[in-house]
Amino acid sequence: MAHYDVAIIGSGAGGGTLTHALASTGKRILLLERGGYVPRERENWSTRAVNLEGKYQTKEVWRDAQGRELHPHTNYYVGGNTKFYGAALFRLRREDFGEVRHWGGISPAWPIGYDELEPYYTQAERLYHVHGQRGADPTDPPASAPYPHPPVSHEPRIQALAEDFMRQGLQPFPVPLGVMLDERSPRTSPCIRCATCDGHPCLVNAKSDAQVVCVDPALAHPNVTLLTGAYVERLETSASGREVTRIVVRRDGGQEVHSADIVVVSAGAINSAALLLRSASGMHPQGLANGSGVVGRHYMGHVNSIHLAVSRCPNATVFQKTLALNDFYWGSRDWSFPMGHISFVGKVDGDTLKAGAPAIAPGWTLELMARHSLDFWLTSEDLPDPDNRVTLDDKGGIVLSYRPNNTAGHERLIATLEGLMRQQSKCGVHGDECHQGLFARNLFIGDRIPLAGVAHQNGTVRFGRDPRRSALDPFCRAHEVDNLYVVDASFFPSSGAVNPALTVMANALRVAEHLRARLG
Ligand SMILES: Cc1cc2nc3c(=O)[nH]c(=O)nc-3n(C[C@H](O)[C@H](O)[C@H](O)COP(=O)(O)OP(=O)(O)OC[C@H]3O[C@@H](n4cnc5c(N)ncnc54)[C@H](O)[C@@H]3O)c2cc1C
Ligand code: SF4
Repeated sequence: MAHYDVAIIGSGAGGGTLTHALASTGKRILLLERGGYVPRERENWSTRAVNLEGKYQTKEVWRDAQGRELHPHTNYYVGGNTKFYGAALFRLRREDFGEVRHWGGISPAWPIGYDELEPYYTQAERLYHVHGQRGADPTDPPASAPYPHPPVSHEPRIQALAEDFMRQGLQPFPVPLGVMLDERSPRTSPCIRCATCDGHPCLVNAKSDAQVVCVDPALAHPNVTLLTGAYVERLETSASGREVTRIVVRRDGGQEVHSADIVVVSAGAINSAALLLRSASGMHPQGLANGSGVVGRHYMGHVNSIHLAVSRCPNATVFQKTLALNDFYWGSRDWSFPMGHISFVGKVDGDTLKAGAPAIAPGWTLELMARHSLDFWLTSEDLPDPDNRVTLDDKGGIVLSYRPNNTAGHERLIATLEGLMRQQSKCGVHGDECHQGLFARNLFIGDRIPLAGVAHQNGTVRFGRDPRRSALDPFCRAHEVDNLYVVDASFFPSSGAVNPALTVMANALRVAEHLRARLG
């Protein structure tokens, strides 16, 4: 049995970032990742292979509360889901860390305030090469440093939309993006602003994902070891149950056991909860570190939808995800509850639309709609319901029970966007007749689970000060197991309505500082 100072399970936004932050300590670090490297091949940038055929997503089958099959849109690779993310790297709003009253109930406060995470947000933005414009977003929290890189520019159709929104008294702003783009030097810029960023791996390694930015540089340190294809089956403890002593791994068809002074679980919110539940023992009968019973509960994934605003004029945009609106994040004049965030997905094409076809506008085909659409991504906060949860079936398989909640604000957000689109006037040919309607793209893709519900998974191993209501303490250490930490999106007690990855990364850097001190 090999022994390490630190073992980290999962190499995504949380685990990859933590590995990078600890690599220079010289401590012996073991990174266990169930997947391999994403192969670099032409299909990385094929919408057909990625969106229609699901070439890279796991073939694992989960079940819903009724026992029906789910085919989750999640990815097991070095770098985790950041290999496929849209790299929109937002800070949560300052107020998201406090208690927020929503139409559907209360979004609970975090045990730490925004100010505690702020220095790590700044570090994470540097590490992940975030391009943005500080203060342009009216809900932006205060920051101790400017973005490390200038914002990504809008292409003409998106610029026209920004001007239309501004004419309507709104404050559209550039999406903070983790791409290695140098617009001043297109000839040498690693990123080429292609159409297949969001949802696709980057063939030229120019997306700031956890593999490229964190894991690969960490492996340059001789004290860091990565094992791929290493599926962690269970964690076992000493007789007292107070420390993890054995990490049981399935690899190459066999079983191996590792151990470490510190064990960090970062397998993604659903898999981390499943791992702790699988690790039930005499000392931890409800699952490891689960005396509170919260492990697996309070699953959140945002209330998300994709809407295509179809115009008479074509939308020739290649790299679309540059503009966002947070004017309605906290509500509007007619609605005093939070509504959420409006942004874009990557430009869709006919193949992508086939994977979740919208209602077709009269007289249009899917291909034509895709050429004429602005493809909006709308996110609202879902609330942590204890009955929305991860459990295991009798064979140890994952069961995800989820009933959407707090949806009224999202409905308002969609209606507000529809109203805004009707008032567009920038089109010199058709004026406000250019807009042909807003069409919802089906996110369910025949598999019963909202794609984005899994993409933004969080909340299943929440942190807090009260061991009766949380599994982790404010440094993400298990209340009941002294050497066990969880640093993926599981720790969120609430999710806000912006994309989660930067918060996972910043928190991993915060926990890394705590661990550096602990390791001495
Ligand atoms: C298509 C898509 C687009 C997205 N776009 C954005 C975006 O623009 N902005 C944003 O902020 N977020 C985005 N997200 C979400 C973002 O990717 C996640 O929030 C983030 O990756 C979560 O980090 P994590 O560390 O919790 O988990 P992950 O990054 O998923 O990492 C978990 C890792 O653990 C490994 N693992 C799982 N189980 C085991 C096991 N038993 N043993 C060993 N290893 C295991 C997995 O293979 C994986 O590598 C997107 C996600 C998707 C899928
Ligand atoms: S080249 Fe740029 S836009 Fe294209 S996938 Fe890579 S990072 Fe994204």
